[in-house]
Amino acid sequence: MIFLQPIEKVFADFKSAKTGLSHDEIQRRLNDFGPNQIAKTAKKDYRIEYLKEYVSFFPILLEVAGLLALVADYFQPGEGNDILAYAVFAAVFVNATFTFWQKFKADKAMEALMKLVKSEATVLRNGETLSVDATQIVPGDVLILNEGDKVAADAILFESNDLYLNLSVLNGESTPSRRSLQAGDAKRELDAKNMVFAGAAITNGNGLAVVVATGEATEFGKIARMTAEVGKTETPIEREIKHMTKILTVLAFAAGVVFFLLGWFSDRGLLISAIFALSLIVANVPEGLLPTITLSLSLASQRMARRQALIKNLNSVETLGSATVICTDKTGTLTQNEMTVKSVWMANGCACSVGGNGYYEKGQWQFTGEPGRSPHESRQTSMQPLQEMLQLAAINTHAQVDFQAKTSFGDPTEIALVVTADKVQASLEGWEKVQEYAFSSERKMMSTLVKPKGEYQPVLAVKGALEAVLPRCKYWQGDADSKPLNAEKLAQIEQQNQKMAQQAYRVLAIAMKHGDGEEDLVFLGLIGLMDPPRNGVQEAIAQCYSAQIRVMMITGDNPITAAAIGKQIGLKVDAVLTGPDLDSLSDDVLRDKLKNQHLLFARMASAQKLRIAQLLQDNGEVVAMTGDGVNDSPALKQADIGIAMGSGTDVAKESGDMILLDDNFRSIVAAVEEGRTVYFNIKKITTYILSSNVPEIVPYVLSFFLKIPMPLSVIQILLIDLGTDQLPGLGLGSEKPEKHIMQRPPVGKNERILDREVFKRGYFMNGMFEGAAAMFAFLGFLYLTGWEYGNLDISDEYHRQAMTMTLLGAITCQMANVFTLRSWEDSLWNMQGINKMIWFGVGTEVVIVLLILYAPPVQTVFNTATVPLEYLWLLVPFPILLLLNHEWYKKRQREKLGLAH
Ligand code: ATP
Repeated sequence: MIFLQPIEKVFADFKSAKTGLSHDEIQRRLNDFGPNQIAKTAKKDYRIEYLKEYVSFFPILLEVAGLLALVADYFQPGEGNDILAYAVFAAVFVNATFTFWQKFKADKAMEALMKLVKSEATVLRNGETLSVDATQIVPGDVLILNEGDKVAADAILFESNDLYLNLSVLNGESTPSRRSLQAGDAKRELDAKNMVFAGAAITNGNGLAVVVATGEATEFGKIARMTAEVGKTETPIEREIKHMTKILTVLAFAAGVVFFLLGWFSDRGLLISAIFALSLIVANVPEGLLPTITLSLSLASQRMARRQALIKNLNSVETLGSATVICTDKTGTLTQNEMTVKSVWMANGCACSVGGNGYYEKGQWQFTGEPGRSPHESRQTSMQPLQEMLQLAAINTHAQVDFQAKTSFGDPTEIALVVTADKVQASLEGWEKVQEYAFSSERKMMSTLVKPKGEYQPVLAVKGALEAVLPRCKYWQGDADSKPLNAEKLAQIEQQNQKMAQQAYRVLAIAMKHGDGEEDLVFLGLIGLMDPPRNGVQEAIAQCYSAQIRVMMITGDNPITAAAIGKQIGLKVDAVLTGPDLDSLSDDVLRDKLKNQHLLFARMASAQKLRIAQLLQDNGEVVAMTGDGVNDSPALKQADIGIAMGSGTDVAKESGDMILLDDNFRSIVAAVEEGRTVYFNIKKITTYILSSNVPEIVPYVLSFFLKIPMPLSVIQILLIDLGTDQLPGLGLGSEKPEKHIMQRPPVGKNERILDREVFKRGYFMNGMFEGAAAMFAFLGFLYLTGWEYGNLDISDEYHRQAMTMTLLGAITCQMANVFTLRSWEDSLWNMQGINKMIWFGVGTEVVIVLLILYAPPVQTVFNTATVPLEYLWLLVPFPILLLLNHEWYKKRQREKLGLAH
């Protein structure tokens, strides 16, 4: 068993070394072993998916209607039932194809998004640290493992610093298990303590390991092959639409049965009544809504991806629109995470400032002097201690900087330290690392035990937050020797710390000790690093406030630094709470504080984020929370929208609903805007689709109670629902954000997309106008052409002309409807830009209108006829009334919400 062998033998077996493989060798091994991936589960067969569109419930209803029409034609030829049958079949075809196309496009959009979620691994090749695509890992590769990584392949450790592995994907055990360099008494790979496994997460520490298995040969690969594909869970919006479809289906069926019976008893014939009833059912059930909405959600997530927010879970697109609080990290999200050391203060009282921007520009050291010494004297006495302090700071890092190639790798704070050490010519060569006490956001410090060149006794280099380091210090470094810390010195250190923090510097305390153990340390000094705010963050925060979203910074950094940065970016801060403050508050008190105040949380441990998210949610808030570390994972899961940083750990990315590709706060706000937009767009689509049901049902109902000819035929109903409504509906789904979208309050948490408002506008407002329009056109035409009430015995051509008017009444209203529905709250006159899809859809409608008016073959299919021009004015009033009414309604809504006009 390989894990029982000495590590030298493992390296020999895999023809590898601690410095990794050469590039040529990797290429060779990639050819031999193949890429490090597990064969994807069977691809969707789109031919079968397409056929499925013909055999689900609603198409089958239509198919049955078509067959019934054929049967009717067989018994009573010459009544046009054959044409009806073909038209119904054509409707099935068009609908199936359109629905399939939408699903296909949505799938492709998601696939494209998923390609952006690349899995990367850090490796050592030819002695060089590289970040590579995880599929490119080969046996023999050396993995550099860090807290938060998802392990890319099975590997044997040859260095391990406090490394803990969460193996739950492999054995269901969620308590992280400590790794070591010995296998222990393991009998099989999975129990070997000196191994790490593909798919497992590193929850703590770091290490180096040599890969022994990749792809399907890994333990994870073996399991993955055994488990069947996990079923996709339904999102709430899907559930909501299905629920609504169910209600509407029941209603439609009830109506269908009633109409069937009415038709049958009023001597319309059994078959004809059945065909009509079935078609009515199909027409009234918005079965096309789900694919339309799915498509608009996936298009929205594509737009978001372009704005650097990658949605993993389509449902969060909708949730984003309701966000009321954004809890955000500071470093990297609000700031640039480009650290530059700006000032150094040494325990002997000597201070210096550092010039030179960026990492590679040689900066000027300016000794600012200290009480009793001139800057020149300071330089004389302090250059060497300064070099030593920066040397210890830089050795105690994982950063790698290549000054020649001007490239760097690692945590920006640490890179800045290495760069600064180089600026004072502190040598980092010849130190041998013995052990490391890893950094974690809980400990807020890190130490490395190193052996200096040619010396026997090791030295412990320590760096971290002052609160973490200072309590472990017993001495401070004077000019020549170390002295015991006293109250006066402690006060001086504290004062310096505050001074740096007030300048918005991130402050690191540096300490050391001859020998091992993080106690009784010698305090060396403080390093102040600057991390400027990101461009555009100030505007994004202002936008949040106008959108009535609170922004709370939750940072591991010092409260003074955090508040100083907050001030620079216009963050409202009513109170600053620190981690220890938080621990001393009961849930009730904290919940109360979280109600309306703008809080800033500093010196927070990741675990405390979970509590904040929970208490905010108790208050009814919808919480968006950012995170990057392993310990952020519970909070990311708890939050309504977990936002993982693109540069964050794999573990955080797996827990989040959304990945912020550029880590930028601005992108969160952009995503919220898109979320709100898509929320209203879906409302618009649904309203639009529901509206046209009214002019389909009203005429039919009236025809039973009034003595009038049938105003609309089955095929005409299908023409509207499965024909003219489709493209403009899709167009609504691609509407851009409305002007007021970030000035209105967030969408209520319990406000559903398909709420009363949608039904009100769809069925009762715009729908009623459409119903009236259809009947006005129909009856108006009959009246103007001298028809006598009660005369059902009219010529076929005349009847067709009248029906054409009803049909056109509905279609023209839908044209007006789609324009006024382009905005849910904003005025139509305010809308900017043109919506090409809507224009294309309306253009198609115009063509269809012309065809049904003037093209005989089309007229045969759709039971229409040419209507003399002088009657077409009957179509004019209602679309205008519909539009004006809806615009007036939106104006009142704006007034209600207090939005500018
Ligand atoms: P945010 O949580 O907003 O990203 P942050 O990056 O400052 O802020 P942490 O990374 O948890 O939060 O760091 C907390 C503190 O730990 C820092 O203020 C700093 O004092 C210290 N620290 C950060 N990085 C290191 C490091 N590499 N080594 C030692 N100490 C560090």
